[in-house]
Amino acid sequence: MSVLELRDVHRVHGHGETEVHALRGVTLSVASGELVAVMGPSGSGKSTLLNLAGGLDRPSSGEVVVDGTPLSECKLRDLASLRRKRIGYVFQSLNLLASLTAAENISLPMELDGVSVRKARQTAVAALAEVGLDDHADRFPDELSGGQQQRVAIARALIGERRLVLADEPTGALDSQTGETVLRLLRSKIDSGAAGILVTHDARHAAWADRVVFLRDGVVVDTSGPLDQPEALLGGTR
Ligand code: ADP
Ligand code: MG
Repeated sequence: MSVLELRDVHRVHGHGETEVHALRGVTLSVASGELVAVMGPSGSGKSTLLNLAGGLDRPSSGEVVVDGTPLSECKLRDLASLRRKRIGYVFQSLNLLASLTAAENISLPMELDGVSVRKARQTAVAALAEVGLDDHADRFPDELSGGQQQRVAIARALIGERRLVLADEPTGALDSQTGETVLRLLRSKIDSGAAGILVTHDARHAAWADRVVFLRDGVVVDTSGPLDQPEALLGGTR
């Protein structure tokens, strides 16, 4: 069964002369256990697609369905809860809260959902251990390197019962070894039953996906199986 479905989704940003038709009828479905890479030139609508998939933005028309629930029918409070519990985000901007430690950045959403402080702390430290940072649990983001911050962000995104993981160039600022760690963690979360979208410019990263979708000017121009000739399809987009 598909965890995520986009049905003929359009998104128009702005009004009048500044109007941008960022997505023009995108239909996409991602199943449990499936990682879909989204590639395409800058401005082609990749981040818009991810924001819509995660309920952070709403389509101008069309429908987004997560785990059988059409997001347009979700009350705001239910949507917030769905986002916190079921959807993991790894975005270019890390969105770590500077005033919270690494462990607190991970445990806060759990506490908001009623998990005890102690249990949330335990879970957070275990998640940090998975990314090799349990001894940095009490550091603040500005006491961590960029790569370490990114690992905290991925630990937070993959924790708990995430059904859908959305990653927007998650390896952006990372050295290749840390980037590989992030992709391996993402892949193993998917293999344990989540569905995922990975936006990337890098064909080597897209190779971790089961399927690659190419976007151009807000339209899906090609979907392939495992990547064969990405350079030909991407044609000078970097
Ligand atoms: P990508 O992630 O592929 O670079 P985006 O989804 O960020 O593409 O953007 C697609 C198009 O929509 C671009 O033309 C961009 O300028 C425009 N856009 C994105 N977000 C907004 C916004 N909040 N307001 C106005 N235009 C936007
Ligand atoms: Mg983007």
